[in-house]
Amino acid sequence: MTVLLAGGAGYIGSHTAIELLNAGYDVVVADNYSNSCPESINRVEKITGKSVKLYELDIKDTDKLEKVFEENNIDAVIHFAGLKAVGESVSKPVMYYRNNIDTTLSLLETMGRYNVKNIIFSSSATVYGEENPVPYVETMKRGVCTNPYGWTKAMMEQIFEDTARADAELAVILLRYFNPIGAHESGMIGEDPNGIPNNLMPYVSQVAIGKRECLTIFGNDYPTADGTCTRDYIHVTDLAVGHVRAVDYIIKNKCVEIFNLGTGVPYSVTEIVETFERVNGVKVNHVYGARREGDLAECYANADKAYEILGWKTERTLEDMCRDSWNWQKNNPDGYCK
Ligand code: NAD
Ligand code: UDP
Repeated sequence: MTVLLAGGAGYIGSHTAIELLNAGYDVVVADNYSNSCPESINRVEKITGKSVKLYELDIKDTDKLEKVFEENNIDAVIHFAGLKAVGESVSKPVMYYRNNIDTTLSLLETMGRYNVKNIIFSSSATVYGEENPVPYVETMKRGVCTNPYGWTKAMMEQIFEDTARADAELAVILLRYFNPIGAHESGMIGEDPNGIPNNLMPYVSQVAIGKRECLTIFGNDYPTADGTCTRDYIHVTDLAVGHVRAVDYIIKNKCVEIFNLGTGVPYSVTEIVETFERVNGVKVNHVYGARREGDLAECYANADKAYEILGWKTERTLEDMCRDSWNWQKNNPDGYCK
């Protein structure tokens, strides 16, 4: 069985490639390296001792994408290829809508041409919007998103649902990720952000290693136990295993399903910083600053459905996440290719 990972050289795609290879799947990766580099896949091959067929292309380019389908017998596609920086999506909405929506349409069109009927999509907890109460359950309606990035995810979910409604043979799984952090236990692959990190864990790691002076914790006056925001942090390897379970399932079941991939347990920003310091024996300089626009006080999953239907649940603790993030940062202070 062969799985095409669109955007597979990135953070979540590379970890998923390892788990798919370990589970016996063949993996084809197509990526334009707009936010990654081929070194991640070299390392996937080293870790697993298996090879990955790699294509450098823009998924929006259907002529090049066709070649991938022509040359490989693809059983399922996982669509990771997207731009994901929330702040950048506010300043460059057209770029976000163009890239994220067009990659989706290109994949669906090309799959249609080659009769490939299984697709799994990287969605996000952000589609629950501001109105739904935590914990989020898949049966809730999509909410009002707070930025163009979130809207691209909500729109793409709609596109997948409409396409599946029109084609009874098309199986779709929408995976709503919560907050992936951590890195492969080998310390050889991990998250490699360009420039100043937007997300908490890469920022924490870069402060710990001395690349950044100080973390600003965005707000300590939220209605939470310690006043800082809470999130459902999930180890990227647990998330990757969730994709393997989704592939196993979609190949056997003609489904249209949504699954939350989270732990169901919220941790605050302060708890993340304290756990990182304790587990790794390092100092993370931090100050409390103003709230960041668009942040919700709390965001966490009800993760029951993925367990009941896919038989998947997370196995790694917050300590594991902090240890593995630091291990990756220490071994690769400048990421893959800088
Ligand atoms: P990432 O940026 O590391 O990976 C995305 C990959 O897609 C990159 O390798 C990039 O080069 C590639 N890509 C982007 N546009 C492309 C195009 N037009 N053609 C070919 N390749 C293209 O991000 P990630 O953290 O691995 O996230 C993967 C997916 O999961 C994204 O769609 C993201 O929105 C979604 N997601 C991520 C998070 C998170 O916190 N990391 C949370 C929820 C959802
Ligand atoms: N955060 C922070 N300082 C930072 C980056 C993030 O305090 O430099 C907080 C942010 O306010 C949120 C949490 O960390 O409460 C997780 O943010 P991230 O951007 O990683 O993910 P999000 O939940 O926004 O998708």
